[in-house]
Amino acid sequence: VAQLLLVEDDAAIRGALIRVLTERGHAVTSTPSALSALQHVTESPPDLVLLDLGLPDLGGYEALRMLRAVSTVPVVVVTARDDEASIIQVLDAGADDYVVKPFGTGQIEARIRAVLRRGAGPGAAGAASQEGPLRAGGLLLDPAAHEATLDGAPLDLSRREFDLLHYLVQRAGQVVSRRDLLTHVWHLPYGGADKTVDVHISWLRRKLGETAQEPRYLHTVRGVGVKLSPPS
Ligand code: CA
Repeated sequence: VAQLLLVEDDAAIRGALIRVLTERGHAVTSTPSALSALQHVTESPPDLVLLDLGLPDLGGYEALRMLRAVSTVPVVVVTARDDEASIIQVLDAGADDYVVKPFGTGQIEARIRAVLRRGAGPGAAGAASQEGPLRAGGLLLDPAAHEATLDGAPLDLSRREFDLLHYLVQRAGQVVSRRDLLTHVWHLPYGGADKTVDVHISWLRRKLGETAQEPRYLHTVRGVGVKLSPPS
């Protein structure tokens, strides 16, 4: 049974979602405001947060960023806006997935299941947690501990940055396309938001102390993708 926290101020939608999700076997706690959601997440962390972006007390993106600041809990955002810029903003603010209103309850349940499946996390049994440390030059990644160091110094990476670096280190020396990254790191097989990948690569570069003009590890291959290879 997954513990879900539903953050939704519309009582009718909240009631309908609680009914559907409970029927599907989830345990659902709900709250109508962002600030009380932050408190919930801190005090008794759920397995997943379903977050409406239109809440009365905080702007949606602000709520998402504050949530991300206190927790790595998977977040599925419910938004009324489906233009690409809004979706990129949602994903860059740390959402794991999104559902656009109005939505079918079947869709929301499928998104929740998919996010829970892949976000089972470092504690879950599975291939990823048994994978040993990976090295590429001065980069050392420990997938089980979710830790990365560069030349012995710890890297402070977001979950997404870690997953991105992990995927690239596993394929060191190969060119990886944006589409591959969207599929395997963002779990968006239908793609569309290439800019999201570029933005995260530039953030990762900054943390690795390099730039696109003077790369050390992350080499852009124009029109194809990106390749991780250690400086020789
Ligand atoms: Ca709302």
